[in-house]
Amino acid sequence: MATKKTVAKSVSKRTSKVVIKKTPAGKSAAKKVIKKEDSGLPLSVVIRRRIEAQKARFHANDNISAFIKPGELEGLVDEVAEKMQAVLESLVIDTDSDHNTQNTSRRVAKMYVQEVFNGRYTVQPTLTKFPNVSRLNELMIIGPITVRSACSHHLCPIMGRIWIGVLPSKESALIGLSKYSRLTEWVMCRPQIQEEAVVELADMLEKKIKPIGVAIVMDADHFCMQWRGVKDRDSKMVNSVMRGAFLKDSNLRREFLSLLERR
Ligand SMILES: [Zn+2]
Repeated sequence: MATKKTVAKSVSKRTSKVVIKKTPAGKSAAKKVIKKEDSGLPLSVVIRRRIEAQKARFHANDNISAFIKPGELEGLVDEVAEKMQAVLESLVIDTDSDHNTQNTSRRVAKMYVQEVFNGRYTVQPTLTKFPNVSRLNELMIIGPITVRSACSHHLCPIMGRIWIGVLPSKESALIGLSKYSRLTEWVMCRPQIQEEAVVELADMLEKKIKPIGVAIVMDADHFCMQWRGVKDRDSKMVNSVMRGAFLKDSNLRREFLSLLERR
């Protein structure tokens, strides 16, 4: 048994390398090989094992791109589509004769993997950093940035806006304005809860920019309150994170919040 496994592994490793990089057949060939990897295990299990081997976390709001090889996302779409089809069948929907649902399983799989949850599977956007040459140390406010996310409890959409306040230090590395949106999108395109999402974004900005202070306000509609549950269309959730100078200096905090109100 043990020998069999080792053999299968080394073979698939060798073939997948060759096929993914050199076969002109491209995608479909890569897919076939990936499916064969680790003796026919579903791709999600193969990826999960890699993560577990590194003792890494893979909660809904974690990025697992480091454990996914080139070409594998396609295979993941196939696997999710297959399982989504089973969900539709369990919901007693006749996907054979109902033309509206014939390709729904694949559409949903693509939407999850390639769009709304792709912040889990893709690497962090590269951020070009600029030295703070003019030694700016004035409050900067970026926003509103559109936020599209989903709650990890029901996978219902969360639609909202975010404002980021940064007080750079003279030594801070600055990032281009559009990068705030890119980074926000990357963090938000995962199933999560709003409170954790803003904390994660604040952590990331602190690490990248090393500012004197960073503040984030997020205001969002939670579809799990509107589409289901209490069906309260007007309920919103607003939360904020204040770090460094924004925490200590109430004038700065007031300045940031007053500038938001005018938008
Ligand atoms: Zn929910």
